[in-house]
Amino acid sequence: MVTNLPDGTFDLGQLESKIRHGYPDPHYPRSRLVCVENTHNIMGGRVLPLSFLQELRSVAERYGLAVHMDGARVMNAARAQGVSPSVITQHCHTVSVCLSKGLGAPVGTMLAGPKDFIQRAVCARKALGGGLRQAGILAAAGTIALTAMVDRLEEDHRHAKIFAQALLECDPPLYQVDMAAVETNIVRFYLRDPLLTPGEFCERLAAVAEGEARALGQGTRVLMFPHVGGSVRACWHLGVTEEDTQSAVSKLRFVAQQYAKERHRAR
Ligand SMILES: *Cc1c(COP(=O)(O)O)cnc(C)c1O
Repeated sequence: MVTNLPDGTFDLGQLESKIRHGYPDPHYPRSRLVCVENTHNIMGGRVLPLSFLQELRSVAERYGLAVHMDGARVMNAARAQGVSPSVITQHCHTVSVCLSKGLGAPVGTMLAGPKDFIQRAVCARKALGGGLRQAGILAAAGTIALTAMVDRLEEDHRHAKIFAQALLECDPPLYQVDMAAVETNIVRFYLRDPLLTPGEFCERLAAVAEGEARALGQGTRVLMFPHVGGSVRACWHLGVTEEDTQSAVSKLRFVAQQYAKERHRAR
């Protein structure tokens, strides 16, 4: 394992120090593969810079390693960088891409790579019982995901930015967000009050409080989950509209106000 940096990359020198190469040592497995995730979920949907991917590939090839990209959200990365996905995937040997999530298909991941690799993958799929014969119903949804849904990802990115900016401007100021880190459809934010845990906060978001409908004109349940490092993660995908985003913002403002009132009373 290498250490995640805040921008979703890692130190290539550290990677190099962990590669096991040279004369086979019977105590250790030999390194064969480097995997990267793009966009990087844990770091908040960060887009891996193209220069990083290029350098990564040259380090990997120096040691005869292949590079696999877990590109579940690589289409989000491509939209955010304003490039065709192939500009990104030229730096990897193999890539997997999710047709669901932001792209909206009910299920499906595609695997791309050299022909012999795909042939081996098909064998592995068969061995694992993952075959599907009448796959047309899923392929049809996948075709829509790839033709009609890729450009739409920009809406998710826009909604995520609107949301993050509103959290920054929230009164009382309960939320802390790094706007520069909001590159795609994921927003990671922190609560400024250490007494309010991310778990309790998420429970408040998911419940409709007494008086909420009176205050906001509607009751809203917002589903988010506590994330690494004491953060909370919000994510956008097909079906979450700008109106929904505004409702979520109102709810987060309401929760911040209710919490401030409770703290005030408790003092
Ligand atoms: C969702 C996800 C997957 C798995 O996708 P499936 O469609 O369930 O195969 C793999 N990697 C990452 C980073 C993901 O976010």
